[in-house]
Amino acid sequence: SRIDDSEHLCIYSADIGQQLKIRSQLEQALIHALERDEFEIYYQPQILANSGQIIGTEALLRWNNPQLGSVSPEEFIPVAEHVGLIRPIGEWVMNNACKQLKAWQDEGLPPLRLAVNVSPLQFIDPDLGNAVKRIIQKTGIKPEDLELEITEGSLMWDMETAIKMMNQIKQQGIILAIDDFGTGYSSLSNLRHFPLDRLKIDKSFTQEIGTSSGSTEITLTILTIGKRLGMSVIAEGIETQEQATFLRNNGCDEFQGFMYSHPLPADKMTQLLRDGATI
Ligand code: C2E
Ligand code: CA
Ligand code: CA
Ligand code: CA
Repeated sequence: SRIDDSEHLCIYSADIGQQLKIRSQLEQALIHALERDEFEIYYQPQILANSGQIIGTEALLRWNNPQLGSVSPEEFIPVAEHVGLIRPIGEWVMNNACKQLKAWQDEGLPPLRLAVNVSPLQFIDPDLGNAVKRIIQKTGIKPEDLELEITEGSLMWDMETAIKMMNQIKQQGIILAIDDFGTGYSSLSNLRHFPLDRLKIDKSFTQEIGTSSGSTEITLTILTIGKRLGMSVIAEGIETQEQATFLRNNGCDEFQGFMYSHPLPADKMTQLLRDGATI
């Protein structure tokens, strides 16, 4: 009816207005977040599937704003990309996470590989290779301690450009991983063209192991192709023993997920390493 339509329209436009307001508050706050020191890096352990030994950690950004509270990266990373802040923020993460890794190394803690997320917008920056090189030199870590997690978005640039960017990173000895694989538009057959070292099974697949036969099949296919291409395979989002067992039995090399550990603030991660680095 007429009334329903106009009511619907009214609520609809109010929602959009509200959304735009929140969005612009978020943008304004984000512009000052770096200088106001509102970011913090959390670290989630990555473990060997067979031993439970912690051999890596993923740096995950957290933002705490006095007005907005704690904002999820799912929410603010796209905004940072949109307003052109992802490069300075991304460099801040890389720099501070590498510094933290060096501190762990200097303390004599068990060796760890550090994974840092790289947005497709950082990835096409022709200066990325140099920026990473500078950070490695400045912090004093080794290139092979560092892994960059790129997403399928970074494979969508023309193939030659993408491969060139990857080689600039790989030539330094840095490890390259494909994150969230299977959630975007790139295809399994495309994968073979790229010089990738590692493949990360997205948590949307991991979490449906055993409950959705489609996802279980996709997980198996991703594992098989990863192995065939000589890549090491890690699964994220592991929450149950059943998921872990299935993945281990099918050759998955490494695990990451709440079942082992949530992402931790640096001091908690330090404690875990001091306690022997096994889960
Ligand atoms: P991602 O790179 O796929 O990171 C994995 C996400 O899954 C993290 O969410 C992590 O906390 C969550 N997770 C890990 N294990 C489990 C589990 O067992 N169950 C469930 N349900 N979730 C699990 P988080 O930290 O909220 O980050 C969300 C996304 O934000 C990341 O997804 C990544 O795309 C982006 N992000 C975070 N930090 C950065 C950063 O420094 N740079 C860039 N470019 N993106 C970032
Ligand atoms: Ca990631
Ligand atoms: Ca992921
Ligand atoms: Ca994701």
